[in-house]
Amino acid sequence: MGTSKTHIEFDVKSIRKDFPILKREVSGKPLIYFDNAATSQTPQQVIDVIVDYYSNYNANIHRGVHSLSQEATDKYEQARKKIQSHFNAKHVHEIIFTSGTTHGINLVANGFSSLLKKGDEIIVSALEHHSNIVPWQMLCERTGATLRVLPMNEDGELILSEFDNILNDNTKLVFVNHISNALGTINPIETIIEKAHKVGAAVLVDGAQSCPHIKPDLQKLDVDFYVCSAHKMCGPTGVGMLYGKQEWLEKLPPYQGGGEMIAEVSFEKTTYAGLPHKFEAGTPNICGGIAFGAAIDYMNSIGFENIAAYENELLGYATQKLLDIDGVKIYGTSKHKTSVISFNVGNIHPYDIGTLLDKMGIAVRTGHHCAQPIMDFYGIPGTIRASFMFYNTKEEIDNFISGLRKTIAMLS
Ligand SMILES: *Cc1c(COP(=O)(O)O)cnc(C)c1O
Repeated sequence: MGTSKTHIEFDVKSIRKDFPILKREVSGKPLIYFDNAATSQTPQQVIDVIVDYYSNYNANIHRGVHSLSQEATDKYEQARKKIQSHFNAKHVHEIIFTSGTTHGINLVANGFSSLLKKGDEIIVSALEHHSNIVPWQMLCERTGATLRVLPMNEDGELILSEFDNILNDNTKLVFVNHISNALGTINPIETIIEKAHKVGAAVLVDGAQSCPHIKPDLQKLDVDFYVCSAHKMCGPTGVGMLYGKQEWLEKLPPYQGGGEMIAEVSFEKTTYAGLPHKFEAGTPNICGGIAFGAAIDYMNSIGFENIAAYENELLGYATQKLLDIDGVKIYGTSKHKTSVISFNVGNIHPYDIGTLLDKMGIAVRTGHHCAQPIMDFYGIPGTIRASFMFYNTKEEIDNFISGLRKTIAMLS
């Protein structure tokens, strides 16, 4: 790898060599991958870890006396420590391996079923992904609690003054994403956490979109729960993290029953294992957990400050080029945003543009981006979303813009 923390220059050419998939063609054209907010690509360093696991030490973990099992256990638990240290959690047992963001949210929502009663209130933000809306609606149905919505403005920002109006002594939980996947807005979670804590409410932050771009300090944020997915930060699919403060994780009941999560079992009574195993029933995604650790190492080797600075440059460049095109409207115009651009062109359906771009090897996402309430707010069925990672280039943006211009000419 051509970069390290001491490198000041951002050497995107050499970084791209780490990603085998970036060499492939689609429809006979070099792939331009701008769907990073849906899933990121995987560097060779992480692929090697996956191949090494299945080639050399695949075994079930914990309680195994044989060498392979111990090796796999050690690597898996080292990955947990790596995640703890990356996110600056106080204790390693506050890191729960999950299958991803959705699983982490459901684990917490399910646990709160036993802690909420009629009259309690939950606040979700208007900028949420469906996976951060539906579990809370289900929770409200089970407990009789009321769901309230923190509204957004035209720029795609949360209206913080409204937060003061809906927050009250009945508020038990607040759910907000750190960064919106549909618009890229960076939400003021520091203020939200501080205000929520004043009325004794817990806060869960969905970090699925933030972890690929910034490095959150969980102790400093003083957040109660934080969730993310490895596959959006150069790791594999099917694995993620739930961070919870120890006192909260102790209060929540286990989510699923099974092996691994018990201390003692008889037909009369089962006692549960301590943290983190209480929430990790069954054989986990062992290889995925280890590869998640490798992905964090990889991203740190490039450096999150370098990543943020470079991606911000890509965002500014692409935004300007897009606005030069007649009829382009960008949704999500906050000054605080990451490298996600959601837009439409006149009355052309996003799907038609996406389909034609694909014929030029350009991968973007079209639709509601699992955030229908945001689309309803703007009164549109969906958008075209181009989202960039540190391995994308200005040259790719140029090609995307000329491809888009051709597409518009064909469709109008
Ligand atoms: C992708 C995403 C999710 C869902 O993540 P999964 O890995 O599919 O569980 C949730 N919230 C946000 C903001 C996302 O971007």
